[in-house]
Amino acid sequence: MIETVLWFVERVGESLFASFLSWSNFQAAVGQIPRVFINLSNGLAWPYLLSSLALAWAIYVFAKRAGRLADVSFREFAFPARLYRHRSTLLDFRFAAIDIVLTFLIYVPIMTGVGLLGAKMMTWVLVGHLGWEPPSSLSPTAIVIAAAGFLLLHDLINYCAHVLFHKVPVLWAFHRVHHSVEVLTPAAAYRIHPVELIGFAMLQAPAVGLSAVFYENILGRDQQITMIFGVSIAGFVLALLGTHLRHSHIWFSYGPVFNRLFMSPAHHQIHHSVDPRHWNKNFGVKLSVWDGLFGTHYHPGHPEVLQVGLLDAAPREFETVRSLYVSPFARSIHTLTRLLERRA
Ligand SMILES: [Zn+2]
Ligand SMILES: [Zn+2]
Repeated sequence: MIETVLWFVERVGESLFASFLSWSNFQAAVGQIPRVFINLSNGLAWPYLLSSLALAWAIYVFAKRAGRLADVSFREFAFPARLYRHRSTLLDFRFAAIDIVLTFLIYVPIMTGVGLLGAKMMTWVLVGHLGWEPPSSLSPTAIVIAAAGFLLLHDLINYCAHVLFHKVPVLWAFHRVHHSVEVLTPAAAYRIHPVELIGFAMLQAPAVGLSAVFYENILGRDQQITMIFGVSIAGFVLALLGTHLRHSHIWFSYGPVFNRLFMSPAHHQIHHSVDPRHWNKNFGVKLSVWDGLFGTHYHPGHPEVLQVGLLDAAPREFETVRSLYVSPFARSIHTLTRLLERRA
């Protein structure tokens, strides 16, 4: 056990400084940044941007034909100045620019280290202690079922992690950063504190480890049945269905049936709302079934006018990029101190 802990500390140390160990590592990390627009495992890949724009266009045409947008151009409809020049959005752009660099230099190496730890722990438990033998081959049907199972598991953990980040005061101090956006534009999706990013990765580590052990002996060629362009078919299709409308003013819901299965952009817009009817609702990431099962689903029926943000934010709590990074630490320390005092 001590050996594993030491191994983990070493890996985290290595991961943390991996990009700075050599000039070529640093260049490789920085070189990844422009690739976000062509790498399909990144939400900023051009097909996802283009599909969200196409959906916005279809919604605009539909509204125009219904006579709801008399003299409004598509640009004014999709990119209204009141939202895109709002101080909250300008702060999101600044935060996203810095965050994307830090992601490739620091967060990705750390999260890779956490994933490796997950794989090591699972191998230790499943193979070393329980004597489980990972399958050496699977039928196409079994591969599809396994991929669906891992998608469900991954999404359930994301749901639970999101609930935890709302319910545990010390974690909420960090998740508040995301909820501090005052208007929704796609840039708001990138206002996420690194502690939250790494926290989610740590909670996902056992599932990542399980899939690494499970697929260890299965040929990559056999797994292609669940992939398209090198990413999972399910993830690819869901990302095309309005990823960038989740953080936007454009209401897009999947309808009464599909809303019960998948998280539509409207679900997440409701999650950001300050209306008490919407509090602690729609925690899901890809699927809405978990919200349905655990009683946190709010069905996005008719379009609603939403006010988003935090009602209890201190005046200068989220005013600058620096405050977005630093203020959650002060709040969580304050929360922890109060808790300890109460216990004492
Ligand atoms: Zn949330
Ligand atoms: Zn959000």
